Amino acid sequence: MTYDDNNIFAKILRGEIPCDKVYEDDHVLAFRDIQPQTKVHVLVIPKGAYVSFADFSAQASEAEITGFFRAAGKIAKDLGIEGDGYRVLANTGVHGHQEVPHFHLHLFGGQPLGRMIK
Ligand code: 5GP
Repeated sequence: MTYDDNNIFAKILRGEIPCDKVYEDDHVLAFRDIQPQTKVHVLVIPKGAYVSFADFSAQASEAEITGFFRAAGKIAKDLGIEGDGYRVLANTGVHGHQEVPHFHLHLFGGQPLGRMIK
């Protein structure tokens, strides 16, 4: 799928739109969701231009994939939500109701979660 350089997360990555950053390294940026659905709701995104989980899993390098998932786990731990548990979600495509076409993980936590959040 063609990547849209003007999607909102591309603008955040370029610093054109501010975000409440919680983590950054060479390959990953994480920031708080602008409309949090739980007490802790953080979005973890790769810096590479991947539309969805499908594209990221198929096209990203092993270093990007490993770094991304290691960072996501570390972010959850650093946010203090690991002990009581949390939820990781990647909405993908139309049926997955993905709104922003730049691959991202949602980290939901800080409270008991229902069976489904989104
Ligand atoms: P999706 O439905 O694509 O999985 O989720 C996109 C998420 O991005 C939504 O939870 C939405 O609240 C969040 N979001 C949309 N625009 C912005 C923004 O400008 N800043 C931040 N921090 N989050 C955003």
